[in-house]
Amino acid sequence: MASVEQRVPAETNGGDSTAGIGVENPATGELVRTVPSLAASDVKEMVARARAAQPGWDALGFEARGRVFRRAQKWMLDNADRVIAVVCSETGKTVEDAQLTDLGYTVPALGFWAKQGPKYLTDERVPSWSTPTAFAKKLVVRYAPVGVVGVVGPWNFPIVNSFGDCIPALMAGNAVVLKPSEVTPLSSLLMEEMLAQCGIPEGVFQVATGDGVTGAALIGEVDCLMFTGSTATGRKVAREAAEALIPCYLELGGKDPMIVCADADIERAANAAAFYSMNNAGQTCISVERAYVEAPVYDEFVARVTESIRVLRQGGPDGGPGTVDVGAVIFPPQIDIVEDHVRDAVEKGAKVLSGGRVRPGAGRFYEPTVLVDVDHSMKCMTEETFGPTIPIMKVPDVEEALKLANDSPYGLQASVWTGDLERGEALARRIEAGVVCVNDAQLNYFALNLPMGGWKGSGIGTRHGANGIRKYCKMQSLLVTRIAPKRELFMFPYAAGRTRLLRRALGLLYGRGSRP
Ligand code: NAD
Repeated sequence: MASVEQRVPAETNGGDSTAGIGVENPATGELVRTVPSLAASDVKEMVARARAAQPGWDALGFEARGRVFRRAQKWMLDNADRVIAVVCSETGKTVEDAQLTDLGYTVPALGFWAKQGPKYLTDERVPSWSTPTAFAKKLVVRYAPVGVVGVVGPWNFPIVNSFGDCIPALMAGNAVVLKPSEVTPLSSLLMEEMLAQCGIPEGVFQVATGDGVTGAALIGEVDCLMFTGSTATGRKVAREAAEALIPCYLELGGKDPMIVCADADIERAANAAAFYSMNNAGQTCISVERAYVEAPVYDEFVARVTESIRVLRQGGPDGGPGTVDVGAVIFPPQIDIVEDHVRDAVEKGAKVLSGGRVRPGAGRFYEPTVLVDVDHSMKCMTEETFGPTIPIMKVPDVEEALKLANDSPYGLQASVWTGDLERGEALARRIEAGVVCVNDAQLNYFALNLPMGGWKGSGIGTRHGANGIRKYCKMQSLLVTRIAPKRELFMFPYAAGRTRLLRRALGLLYGRGSRP
């Protein structure tokens, strides 16, 4: 297998779509490499190769597949600097952001699915005693791989949210074709090279570089689709998957609220607000995107958050670890969205306490920004910003915070901060989101046995946990009859006596319920 450097020609062509897609370093503006933009016919061929390779991969069994992932775990650690360098080259994120997520998530995930995958996919015996017609029969549920899984990913975490979802799909015995974001395809090509070196059979894992057209072509060819990206594209993907009649799982956008109660540890809540709104330059689907703070602690919270954010160092990762805190804006149109949300807020009366503008100079950076005096007439409180901003709103009480938190088309994640854990959990259960953290944020993503998925416009389905691998399987139910009469009571020919007997049996079994 050729290396990323060999496979992707280094010549520059200005991103001409007929020749390929130019991958730009957002921290410097330089063109890093060019990758091919695959047509529908290329995708069709790739899926055919995947389909031919899949039965052999499945037949290898869990242990042999797990060995490939354990080797990959070691490979990633041995090549950690290279992995981080490739991620940083196409994202302009800090070394720490790449290490904590793209490396810090993926290395444990390879081991997790190698170990837990077989357990989650073991045949399940279902009790038959409660069903009279199935009494004494053997009932079994088994999980068979769907065949070829298509994975389409975004640009913000080019390994976690693209390759990360391929691991359980592969572990289940499927072949996978991954279509990474056209903005950040190099990390996925590196993962392809890694698995080839770790012994994955040819054709089992392939990367199809290209844009939305390539992604759309994949939907018509595969047996199941895992999509991570924006809600707008997710709707299109769902329509295309419905037409192809394949299962499709959608991990989409969010507008995660943070609710800070008056009894919270304000110092910890403020540190967390600064970190979880600004890590990865705010380009995390589960970023803290808006904060609601009870009036008695509002001033202290705002002062602490602003103090933390004002001193953040911003820039590219070239200086190495510990030199910068906040990296680049990865996707060119994203800077317009961030600018638009801040401008809209200021025009409607918000105050900027820190940042509030594009950083002058080379590269694509937006200054870490704190907004106050905000409300729900502003885009920064209702639409996904996906940038280094934190709007903070004062609320009279927690009930108002809950009402505002739920006033959103999204329902990805949320967090509640309080000294009273029981109350925190009770409040969490009232928030319309797939995940709610109490006195924390984002860390649930690393708990690979805890399901993660959005409600409302934030998605359909979950990743992680048992369903994180079962979703890539066809569920098959087996009923096995061991001992049985020559003819069941309900079989032909019908006879009035047996009909009465069966009616009486129904009454005896279920007749104790209360009358309507
Ligand atoms: P996007 O929707 O623009 O693109 C995502 C992927 O879809 C890309 O690979 C793109 O080429 C492809 N695509 C575009 N049109 C397509 C089509 N018609 N058919 C198939 N594929 C198509 O999203 P983005 O800008 O790359 O990513 C940012 C978004 O992703 C944000 O909204 C963020 O919240 C979300 N996100 C969600 C999660 C999550 O777990 N919920 C994680 C990361 C990012």
